[in-house]
Parts: sequence; structure tokens; C-alpha cells
Amino acid sequence: MIWDRIVTAILQLNIGYLDIIDLIIVSYVIYKLIMLIRGTRAEQLVKGLFILLLAMIVSDKIGLKTLNWILEKVMTVGLIAIPIVFQPELRRALEQLGRGKIFQRPFRSWDYQKFDYFLEELMKAVPALVKKRIGALIVIEQETGLNDWVETGIVIDGLISAELLINIFFPRSPLHDGAVIIRGNQVVAAGCYLPFTDDPLLDKELGARHRAGIGITEQSDAVALIISDETGAVSLAHGGVLTQYLEGEELRGKLTELCVTERSEGLNLNFWPWRNSK
Ligand code: ATP
Ligand code: MG
Repeated sequence: MIWDRIVTAILQLNIGYLDIIDLIIVSYVIYKLIMLIRGTRAEQLVKGLFILLLAMIVSDKIGLKTLNWILEKVMTVGLIAIPIVFQPELRRALEQLGRGKIFQRPFRSWDYQKFDYFLEELMKAVPALVKKRIGALIVIEQETGLNDWVETGIVIDGLISAELLINIFFPRSPLHDGAVIIRGNQVVAAGCYLPFTDDPLLDKELGARHRAGIGITEQSDAVALIISDETGAVSLAHGGVLTQYLEGEELRGKLTELCVTERSEGLNLNFWPWRNSK
């Protein structure tokens, strides 16, 4: 019977432990890739390439030479286009890999005392800025290093204080334009230029400051605090999502939640992030 033949064929293949491990790793990687592109722009592109590939094979088998030649060329261009078109996605994927919980050193440069100190000063500065209608953009570094963006501004490397923050954002001060970057309890830099989000669904009312604040959280795991100089509204951005109109204890709670829980999650080795993703 056919089954006997299949079984003998498999037995003759001489599969070792290494082959099985090999297969498991490859299946896992393919599975992760599928999960990564599912529901993104890349999904359509991969489907398109798949159809092209199919058409190429069929045209080759039937013997449609010219069509096959054109398809081959298109395929080559398509493959070269992928890294260019999906540069942001690929970058994010590699960053996620590097941030992978397996490689995470627990409590790297993270210190609850420093966080508390930072939070107290920030919670003093925010109401003062809001009251004076001074716009502000404060980025709190998490696991992803923000040095690329520190370089776009003026390095300060000073202990955070409410007065320092208010002074930086004071209109017409040399440093008020751009973002402040915080690491632990240090103000690393001010006047930093951040990448804009290109989210087309964003409220048109939101201007450059908000777009920059959201943009940086799309390209890193940082948390951004934005104070609008037009309305005095305080917002937080994380993972490209903006939460508007936060005040007092609500703001403190949300900040702690975003900064602290992100850290403690690193302790339980999180191999399957999609199981508890939001
Ligand atoms: P607001 O409600 O405070 O007016 P907004 O979202 O409407 O905020 P704009 O009025 O366009 O934003 O704010 C301009 C300010 O945003 C600039 O003065 C500058 O400090 C800051 N800003 C603009 N673009 C960037 C950027 N790419 N990176 C960092 N800061 C930026
Ligand atoms: Mg504005």
C-alpha cells in the first residue's frame, strides 16, 4: 500500500535528532515571521510575491517564454524592493529581537529609587507648565537606547528637577524647541528632534509636537509625555498610542504602569508575547 511505501521512504531517509531540531527551529522561525506580518502592509506584499512566483513557475512549465522572462525580472525587482519599502518594519522587528526577554539583563540601569525621584520632580513640573500654558515634550527612555535622538539635541546630563524642566521649556529659552530625553533620574538632552508618526488616522488637531511624541514611541519602547501649549492638555504616548487629557493621580498611575510594569515583565521569561499582548 501507499502508506507502507511512505513509511519505508521515511525510514530510509535516516532522520537524526539534529534534523528534528533543525525542523523545529525552521518551523518556529516561519511561524514567527507569519505572526509578525499578519495584519500589516507586508501581508499583502508577501501574497503578491507568492502569486508572482506561482505565475512564474506555471509560465515556465507551459513554455510562455516572454511572460516568464518578464515575471522573472519583476520578481528580482520585487525582492530588492522589500528591504527598502519595509525598512521601518524590519527595523522594528530587529529591535524587538534585540529587546527579546531572553537577552534582557534584569534591572539594567533601572532603579526604582531613581524612578520615584524622577516621578516626583515630573509631577511638580507638569502642573506648573500646564498652568503657564507652556508646551512640552518629554521622552522617558526604556529598554531601547535613544542615543540616536540625543545626538540631535543639546546634551545636558543633569539630575532632573522640576525647575530645570520648566526652565528648558520656557518660551524663547534656547532649549525650549524640541524634546527632552530622560534616562533614570537624569535629563540627558534637550532640544532633540524626533521622528514624526505617519499615522493617517491621527486627529488633524494634533500638531507637530504630538506627532513627534507619538513617532518616537513607534520606533522605540519609550514613553512620551506631551503638554499642549494651546489647550494645556497632558497626554502620554506609548507604542504609537496616545492617551489624552491625563491629570494628577491618573497621570501618575499611567506613567508608573507604562514604565514599571514594562520592566517587571522582563523577569518572567516571556517567550510567547502574543499570549498576553493587549
Ligand atoms: P500644541 O498643542 O502645544 O500647539 P501641537 O501638537 O499643535 O502642540 P505645534 O503647535 O506644531 O504642536 O508645536 C510645535 C512645537 O513642537 C515646536 O515648537 C517644537 O518645540 C515641537 N516640535 C515640533 N516638531 C518636533 C520634532 N520633530 N521633534 C521634537 N519636537 C518637535
Ligand atoms: Mg499647535
